Parts: sequence; structure tokens; C-alpha cells
Amino acid sequence: MPVIQELHVDGGASVNAVLAPESIQNENTHTQVGECSSSAQLLKFPPAVKVRGRPRLQTKKTAIGQTRSANKMCVPYKQKRVYERTLTLVRSLVTGVRPEDVNNTNPVGPQHLRLQPDELPSIILHEDVVLSVIKPLVTPPAWKKLNSALKERRKMNLWKCSCCCKDTAETNCVECDSCLEWYHWQCVGIERAPRNEWYCYVCKMNL
Ligand SMILES: [Zn+2]
Ligand SMILES: [Zn+2]
Repeated sequence: MPVIQELHVDGGASVNAVLAPESIQNENTHTQVGECSSSAQLLKFPPAVKVRGRPRLQTKKTAIGQTRSANKMCVPYKQKRVYERTLTLVRSLVTGVRPEDVNNTNPVGPQHLRLQPDELPSIILHEDVVLSVIKPLVTPPAWKKLNSALKERRKMNLWKCSCCCKDTAETNCVECDSCLEWYHWQCVGIERAPRNEWYCYVCKMNL
């Protein structure tokens, strides 16, 4: 604890000075104001920075406790394994439940599925998609309603932007190679057709 002590300096005048404890212990050797170099020598500076730039990610887990992998990347739907394809479909269709919680023993009912024909995700209209992979994951009534909604949707010939939910007709659009949803260029901030695979913000967020 620093203390204020009255010091007598040359000429008889007295001044108040703030002294560190070590200065008090050594006051016999520090009788004159100005001899406080030993306190300055005790100051420690942080070590010199060896690497510049953004710090590397240290935590191995995400905020919700999932394992974080720096090497995770979006995969085109065609290259996905059956489990990943199924999860992509479930993600697009269920609402109000976590897609990861849906399984054979916990199938979702109609109340947790998007069943309005004009609200169905574009993925289930895609020619590469086999909808029956999710049949064990939904209840029989939900499966029936989903198929009749799909039939209605096919008649509509409607392709909606997954971001703004408006029709994609006569506007430049891009398809996400992972979830097979369509987006207006304007909605996802691109100005020309991507040359390689393109992944939407939802797929990047779900990594
Ligand atoms: Zn849009
Ligand atoms: Zn996507």
C-alpha cells in the first residue's frame, strides 16, 4: 500500500510524497527526492507480441457445446451420405423442433412440418432428392399430408427465394449446392453467377 509521508529535503522545506512499501523499507538509502529508480525498475511490461493478426480459435466447443472443427466445409448434396441427405431434408421441413432430435423413435407429427403447398422448401421438388428417406422420421398422418401438399405444389410450378419468400421468376437466382434452395442474387449479395459450388448462409451457419 502506498502511503503519504512527509519528507524533508535539502533547504528545510517539507513535501508530501507517495511512497511504495519497498521505498519505506529502504528509506535510509532514499533520503533525497528524485532517487526512485528502483521502483521504476520493478515495473513489468507485457511480453513482446511475436505473431500479428487475428488470434487463433482456442475453444474446441461451440457456444451450444458441439464439437468445433476448423476443417468442416459445406458439401454438395450429391456428395452427401444418406444420413446427411436426410438431415438436410429434415432441416428444410420441420419447424418448432430441433432437426437433430428427430429420429425413428421420435417421429414428427403434422404440427411440426411445413405443409402449406406454397411454403414447401424447393429441395423436395429437386430431381436428385428421394423424399422417402424421411418416411420413418414422420408419423403416418404427417407423411400423407406431406405428399398431398407436394402434389399441390408441383401443380403450382412455383420456385420461391428461400430468403425473401418471393417468386424467383424472371430474376437472377442461385441455387445452394448443399440444401438445394434458391435465392435471389440480390438477397444473398452476389452480382454474377458463381463459377464453382455456392453455399447459402443457412448451410454455412449449420456447420
Ligand atoms: Zn429473395
Ligand atoms: Zn444452403
